[in-house]
Amino acid sequence: MRFVLLGAPGSGKGTQAKKLMERYSIPEISTGEILRKAVAAGTPLGKDAKGYMDRGELVPDSIVLGMVHDRLKREDCKKGYIIDGFPRNEAQAMALDKMLAVIGAPVSAVVSIEVEKKELIKRMSGRRICRFCGQVFNVHLLPPAKEGVCDKCGGGLFQRDDDREETIRKRLSVYESQKAPLIAYYEKKRILKSITGSGSVSDIFKQVCDAVEDK
Ligand code: AMP
Repeated sequence: MRFVLLGAPGSGKGTQAKKLMERYSIPEISTGEILRKAVAAGTPLGKDAKGYMDRGELVPDSIVLGMVHDRLKREDCKKGYIIDGFPRNEAQAMALDKMLAVIGAPVSAVVSIEVEKKELIKRMSGRRICRFCGQVFNVHLLPPAKEGVCDKCGGGLFQRDDDREETIRKRLSVYESQKAPLIAYYEKKRILKSITGSGSVSDIFKQVCDAVEDK
């Protein structure tokens, strides 16, 4: 099971990927999360990526491709994985296929989660994350019982730098500009399923599971 989740920032890819990871016992590979960790740890990769991320731009392929390649080579990916946030453009999709061709294990399903722009802005601008356990809340849609405090572990909540309105708009326009060729690439391969990403997390999860299992 080698799944790719496509969708705009804020479409819920990360949430769905974590649920898929539990259901199928395969790892989630989130390029955004790997990059954020590298930035927080101040590694050379993080230092190179930070400016692009703060501006809401894509980190150059020369940085991201090596990172994904290293991750896919790890032992835990042998039985499958869910990639979320990658590929972000056609060149990355082609590079992914090349990497996988070497091991003879192509992507088995690609699910695109579609959400309206207005809703995406609401989700991202309201997103707050627990510093300790990573639990995600939303001040508009899923507020914590006590403002600024995680319901699960009591940790403090923070807003991602790139979840501020200016950067959100930039990230969405970058996504829109790359979306059509990426979707066309996977449509041509007949492995793309599009689903509606509004509604409850569990309803969307059901659609995602139906899509990946219909193979
Ligand atoms: P995300 O959490 O997936 O929205 O990613 C946060 C930021 O990390 C993006 O706005 C980009 O700057 C960077 N990023 C994540 N994945 C990629 C990728 N596949 N290619 C280029 N940049 C990426």
